[in-house]
Amino acid sequence: MVKKEFQAESKRLLDLMINSIYTHKEIFLREIISNASDAIDKLCYQSLTDDKVGLSRDDFKIEIRLDKDNRTITVSDNGIGMGQEELENNLGVIARSGSYQFRREVDKDAAVDIIGQFGVGFYSAFMIAEKITVVTKKYGEETAYRWESSGADGYTITPCEKETVGTDIIMSVKADTEEEQYSSYLESWQIFQLVKRYSDYIRWPIRMEMAQRRVKEGSAEDKPEYETVMEWKTLNSMIPLWQRQRSEVSDEEYASFYQDKFFDYEKPQRVITASVEGSVTYKALMFVPANRPADMNTLDFKPGLQLYSSGVMIMEHCEDLLPEYLDFVRGIVDSPDLSLNISRELLQHDRQLKVISTSLEKKIRGDLAKMLQEDRAGYEKLHANFGRNLKFGLVAPQFMKAREALQEMVLFLSSTEKKPVTFSEYVDRMSEEQKYIYYAAGESAALLDTLPQAERIREKGWEILYFTDQLDELVAQNLREYKGKELRSVVDGDLGLEDENEEKETEEKTELLTFVKNTLGERVKEVRLSRKLKSHPVCLTAGGGLSFEMEKYMRRAQPEMALRADRILELNAAHPAVQALERARTEDSAKAEKYAKILFDQAVLIAGLTIDDPTEYTDLVCELMK
Ligand code: ADP
Repeated sequence: MVKKEFQAESKRLLDLMINSIYTHKEIFLREIISNASDAIDKLCYQSLTDDKVGLSRDDFKIEIRLDKDNRTITVSDNGIGMGQEELENNLGVIARSGSYQFRREVDKDAAVDIIGQFGVGFYSAFMIAEKITVVTKKYGEETAYRWESSGADGYTITPCEKETVGTDIIMSVKADTEEEQYSSYLESWQIFQLVKRYSDYIRWPIRMEMAQRRVKEGSAEDKPEYETVMEWKTLNSMIPLWQRQRSEVSDEEYASFYQDKFFDYEKPQRVITASVEGSVTYKALMFVPANRPADMNTLDFKPGLQLYSSGVMIMEHCEDLLPEYLDFVRGIVDSPDLSLNISRELLQHDRQLKVISTSLEKKIRGDLAKMLQEDRAGYEKLHANFGRNLKFGLVAPQFMKAREALQEMVLFLSSTEKKPVTFSEYVDRMSEEQKYIYYAAGESAALLDTLPQAERIREKGWEILYFTDQLDELVAQNLREYKGKELRSVVDGDLGLEDENEEKETEEKTELLTFVKNTLGERVKEVRLSRKLKSHPVCLTAGGGLSFEMEKYMRRAQPEMALRADRILELNAAHPAVQALERARTEDSAKAEKYAKILFDQAVLIAGLTIDDPTEYTDLVCELMK
């Protein structure tokens, strides 16, 4: 019996497998099962036109046998089998398909990555086996063959006996080492779990003998005795939920699938399905969780959909499938157009994957837009959890193309409606007189409800959008307008309110304004008359492009930058307190200075900022009380 050498590349690949430091060696089973399933596909196809096959669709199966004494795992299929030449060509060299990529020079890390993400076919079994024996009989041939290899030193092929058509892959499991418990692959529960994890949707039954506890026959009903028996069981569920028509699957089925697969104790908020045939073919089953995952903003959070190729999982978290702003969507994409063996870096540039991802993004957005129309309460809940993500999509430059769609999907609390509303709803309600879409930024709706700057707007009955999320202001800065209507902050200097007397009034009050500015010095950038105030004497407006909310946020985030928005003090000339200041200015300027300082500090407090010198402020108030 002549021992044959592996071809050079196969040898390198083999070396890599034998000495693999890769930690998920378990994927070998997925690879061997996938090959078995392909072989069955081929014979099943043959049987459609060839009566001699003698097997019907229900006869096909993959069987796994574990032999602890001899330390072997055997995976058997009744598929097409291999002849001598095929054994030579298929197992003696790297298969032409996926592993082909391996011909390129790869460094060790990249190699580990390739094993991890995609496996490298048959050879991966050498990660756990010291010897592999393949006993196979090809359909239509008389002779069966035994292929045997203990790795690097080559392989032998000899004729042998095998009754039925098909292939047995017998893996002699390596001895345990300090790092690796290879024996665990001889445990049925371990194999069961691996089949569930990687091969649950293989179309053919994967069967194995499992220990089963049951009531002993003849034992008393009130005092049952139990016994453990070995029983053949089908391990995989076979039909993937996403291959079924949406109308055939119940909400409960979807929910329990989601909860099992993505470890959520709650049912999903929304189920989104997609079935696309065309330049690429894929099916997708996606879910929006009912709650924001606790680890969503941490490094532990792993976004991405699971990627399958014809029922076999090839990647657990494929981040390239969805834009970042849709990170919260969980689910599965299955495309027969993707090859099982394709390296991660190639996948990133894969045209098919790009087409799928563009199509998925549209599909999800479309579905959420539909939800907004049809299930408002549900959408509001979803938005409460993931609205931030959508807003992130609106402000991040890389998602420019999505803006038009996303601006229709974000909600803000309305001052008049007292509930979240869209830009579109706002604009529809705008009065003819109203020029801008008004917004007010602050920590909470309760605070914004009493914002003095918004008084005149409120009085007109106009709606204000409350920006309580830090991203909201960035949305305004990035969009600038919605359908031709400019977004304006209520603390902006120009609110587009008509006021004929404005200039005249300012002229009349120039002296007062100059007096206050001189009194406050560097504390304020400008002092001016207000057109927004009604019942409050003063308010503070931010200048210089930075809002007070942003200032507060930046101070927390990056205190060392000490960013400060310009303070502009606005006075309400009609208010008694300001009139008192005006009188004091001519009668007792020392007193007037105190008034000016107090009013300024009050404006600072109302803006939610801290006053520079609280002691000075309280002293001043006390003096006036004397
Ligand atoms: P790939 O599956 O990417 O082609 P593998 O190294 O896993 O690469 O397998 C090489 C080839 O060996 C397969 O393409 C197939 O032709 C053949 N083969 C492997 N396992 C079986 C099997 N159980 N029955 C029939 N042919 C098989």
